[in-house]
Amino acid sequence: MADDDGVQITPGVQRYVDTNNAYLAKRDKYIREVVKKWKFDTIAVHGLYSVNEAIEDYQGSIIEPVFMSSSQAYRDSDEMAAALGYLIPTWCYSRIANPSTYYYEWTLALLEGYGFDGETSCCSTSSGMAAIMTAVQPFLVLKRKDVFQPRNFLATAQCYGGTFQQFNVRLMEERNVECRWIQDPTNIDEWASKIDENTRFLYGELPSNPGQGFFDIKEVADLAHSHGLPLICDSTVATPALLRPISHGADIVVQSATKTLTSSGFGVCGAVIARKDLVTNLDIDALKKDFALYIKYLPNRDYGPNLHPMQAVMTLNDMRTLRSKVDLMSRNTEKVAEFLTKHPRIAGVQYLGLPDHPLHELASKYMWLVDAEHDDQYGKPINRYGHLMSFTVDGGEEATRTFFDHLERIWRATDLGRIKSVATIPAISTHQQQGEMGRELAGIPPNMVRLCVGGEHPDDTIADIDQALSYIGKK
Ligand SMILES: *Cc1c(COP(=O)(O)O)cnc(C)c1O
Repeated sequence: MADDDGVQITPGVQRYVDTNNAYLAKRDKYIREVVKKWKFDTIAVHGLYSVNEAIEDYQGSIIEPVFMSSSQAYRDSDEMAAALGYLIPTWCYSRIANPSTYYYEWTLALLEGYGFDGETSCCSTSSGMAAIMTAVQPFLVLKRKDVFQPRNFLATAQCYGGTFQQFNVRLMEERNVECRWIQDPTNIDEWASKIDENTRFLYGELPSNPGQGFFDIKEVADLAHSHGLPLICDSTVATPALLRPISHGADIVVQSATKTLTSSGFGVCGAVIARKDLVTNLDIDALKKDFALYIKYLPNRDYGPNLHPMQAVMTLNDMRTLRSKVDLMSRNTEKVAEFLTKHPRIAGVQYLGLPDHPLHELASKYMWLVDAEHDDQYGKPINRYGHLMSFTVDGGEEATRTFFDHLERIWRATDLGRIKSVATIPAISTHQQQGEMGRELAGIPPNMVRLCVGGEHPDDTIADIDQALSYIGKK
C-alpha cells in the first residue's frame, strides 16, 4: 500500500507482520463465517465489535472504545516500522486511523455490502462533502504527469446544493475539470452521449435531495463499466436500510452520515464505501483493488479530511436502530404525503412513494425495506421510500413563506434525516448559492418546501402543517 519505497523487512518486523496476519486471518474468518450470515439489524447493532474483542482488548466495555488520544504508542522500533509501513493494522495517528473510526467503517462497509456477494470496505470522513471530494478526486489525477489533459465526468443535475457547488465551482471553474450535467438520468442515451475518452467517472445521487430524482442504477452501472468507468452513487437519502447501490452494480457509495445515519442530529460525518476490485480506466493497482483503504491510507492521510473518534461512536450508536427508524419515518412520510395531495392549498407533492409520481415504478424496483421478508410484522418484501418529500405551495413565494413561518412543531432548518420533522425552503437555503440558473437546472422553484418527516405520530405532524397552511391569504 505504501506509495514510496516501503519498509525494510527485518526478522523483528516480520514477527509483527506474522502475528498480525494471524489476527487478520481470524478476523476475516469471523466476518465470512459469522457476521456475513447475520441479518441487517444484527450487523447494525454489533458490527465487528465482539464480546471476545471487548474482553481481550477493551476491558470488557460493551460499547466500542473511544480513544480521544491523538496517537498510538509501539512496543519497539520493529513494531513502529511495521505499522507505519502499513504492514500491520494500526491506528498510529488519529488523522489516519483510530479504533472508533475502525468500527464505524466496518459497520458501514457491512451494511452497504449487505446482500452483495463481493467484498466492500469503507473510509470514514469528516462530512458528507468530504466523502464526495474524497471519492471523486482520485479519479481526476493526471495520467501523464508532464502534460495537461482534459478531464470530465458526468453527474446528475438534480443533486444536493453542496455537491452542485463542489462540482460546478471548485472543480469546473477553479480546476478546469468539466462536469457534464445529466438533465434526465432516466434517459440512458443522455448518459451515453456525454461519455468520451476523457471521462473519468459517472456520478449520480438517488433519490436526490430535494427533487426526488432517481435512475436505473444497473443500467447506468453497465454503461459505465462498458467504458471502463466507475459509477459513484450518493445514497444518503435512502440509507442502506432501503437501497444498497453496490449490489446493483455501483462501484462506490458516498454517505452524508450526518443525515439519517445519525438521526439524533449529533454532529457531522461522512463515509465512502467501495467494492473491492472496482472498474476504472486508471492504472493504479491499489486504487482498483481496495479503493476505500487506498484513499484512507494515501490521499486522505495527506489531505486530512478525517473523522473524530467521538463522532464515530455517536453515529454508530444511532445506526444500531437504522432499519426500524427508516421504516417508521417512511411510513409517517407516506401518511403526510397522502394528506398533502388532498389539500387545496398544495399545488403538487413530490414523493417517490406516491403511485402517481413519474418515478414511482422505477423507485419501486430498487427501494425495499431490508429484511422485511424476515420480519414478523411484514413477512414479505415491502417497498419503502424514505423520509424525504417536497411539495409546492399554491400562491407562490409569499404564500410559501407564510405557511413556513407558521409551523409550530416542525423545525425550520436546513437539515434532513432527523428523528424530529424538519422543513426548509431550498431556494433560500440549501440551493441559494447556486443562483436562479442553477436552481432551474436542478428543478428548484421558489415555492418548493422540502419536508423530512421524523418519528412523531403522523397525526401531530399533519395537524401542524394544516394549521400553518390556514394562514395563507389571511390578513
Ligand atoms: C447533506 C448532504 C450532503 C453533504 O453532507 P454533509 O455531511 O452536510 O457534508 C451530501 N449529499 C446529500 C444527498 C446530502 O443530503
